[in-house]
Amino acid sequence: MIGVERRTWKADVIVIGGGLAGLTAAMRLQEQGVDVLVLEARDRVGGRLFTQASSAGIPLDVGGQWIGPGQQRITTLAEEVEAHTFFTYNQGDNLEYRQGENKRYSGAIAVSAPLVAAEIVETMLVLSMMSEDIPLDAPWHAPNAREWDSLTAHSWIAQNVSSASVVEWITLAIRAVFACEPRDISLLHLLFYIRSGGNLNELVSVRSGAQERRFSEGAQIVPIRLAERLGDKVLLNCPVRQIQQDEHGVLVVGDGFTVHGKEVVVAIPPTLAGRIQYAPRLPAIRDQLMQRVPMGSVIKVQCIYDKPFWREQNLTGQVASDLGPIQVTFDNSPDSGELGVLLGFIEGDNARMWWERSLDERKAAVLDCFIRYFGIQAATPLEYVEKFWGDEEYSRGCYAGYMPPGVWTVYGEALRRPIGRIHWAGTETATRWFGYMDGAVESGERVAGEVLEKLSHHL
Ligand code: FAD
Repeated sequence: MIGVERRTWKADVIVIGGGLAGLTAAMRLQEQGVDVLVLEARDRVGGRLFTQASSAGIPLDVGGQWIGPGQQRITTLAEEVEAHTFFTYNQGDNLEYRQGENKRYSGAIAVSAPLVAAEIVETMLVLSMMSEDIPLDAPWHAPNAREWDSLTAHSWIAQNVSSASVVEWITLAIRAVFACEPRDISLLHLLFYIRSGGNLNELVSVRSGAQERRFSEGAQIVPIRLAERLGDKVLLNCPVRQIQQDEHGVLVVGDGFTVHGKEVVVAIPPTLAGRIQYAPRLPAIRDQLMQRVPMGSVIKVQCIYDKPFWREQNLTGQVASDLGPIQVTFDNSPDSGELGVLLGFIEGDNARMWWERSLDERKAAVLDCFIRYFGIQAATPLEYVEKFWGDEEYSRGCYAGYMPPGVWTVYGEALRRPIGRIHWAGTETATRWFGYMDGAVESGERVAGEVLEKLSHHL
């Protein structure tokens, strides 16, 4: 750039991405005395974890928010940085809205009819049993990997589930967990994910499940505290555009800056890693992998009320509905219960359709849903907050990247394999809790170990 001064820095290890994965990697490396530098594109850390203050001052997570009992890595990290959690409100009955009627039920399975519930449990059991054969570090080595990776979750459901109610329930569960449609993911990815998160019941549950606890100050507190520890080793507003490497080291180039280093960690989702230019070019297998891991589609909506009025009707605030755009809801009130917050997700095709509409149309449709489930008191929130992740340049969607057919078996090996001085992290590279905060932490810790090992060879 003529006439524009380039800022130049140096670090042994350059970490691209100040989300949970990148910051965990940087902190673990720094603890071992490694000179690190984190380059974050946004003007804040946390990536898909983003806590905003409501106008009444309560923290609202517009990104990721829950952690659960099987998630030891994020739990330990949260304790380490003194980020406190509390239990998601879960007292009373859940609602199943079906064919124009609300019915109460309890537990994770959204059906009031015992026969349908039994069929759902049976289908979940079959999927769990199939998933047991999948090696989490190499799903492509599962005995039926080729066959399962040639089918979509939709085609398996169509061939194996006869009851329309069970099909509806599984479709809803897949939308809620992956933010996409059953036709979008391969059966192998569905099974890998079930195993990666324990089992399907754990993935969809509040009690003893992935939605069990929330952070008192919002989930972004974890990356914020990590960044505080790293101090001036985290640089904001630094989108990386190019990575060059040769036998002497790496050169990372961004808008108005260059950084020289020995190794680089790319801690961003595959589809964003594919937007960076690499010199020399990456092997085609890696390049094509990055073309094949799309992000899910979701709009997260929260309505704030002067009190959690549904609790007075002995309702948990949790709904599973056959009618959108909001098909899944939760009570997202602060722990104190001083205000009421209803959380709803618009996911998969619903999100793809509704993000084209105006804010007013969307808000009216969301409130219609909340009124249908919780009554007329839901009509007048104090505040309406929505976050659409598909138009975030440095996320491109959420909750995570997912694998369509053919990706795991053909490209899976390229997911974590370092290329020269380039190492890959991010929740999409995790073996346990892929797609979750816990997976992001796992990936950060794994990549820190990998880089330390590599650096030990430089000595
Ligand atoms: P990211 O958070 O995406 O971090 C990547 C970072 O890299 C970002 O900060 C980004 O700005 C930066 N970046 C991108 N490109 C560049 C570039 N070229 N140069 C420099 N920096 C760049 N998980 C749970 O465990 N529980 C939940 O309840 C949950 N709910 C979710 C709800 C929503 C609405 C969303 C959005 C996510 C949810 N998740 C949840 C998923 C969870 O947030 C993610 O798994 C996790 O935060 C991913 O962390 P990461 O570090 O791998 O990636």
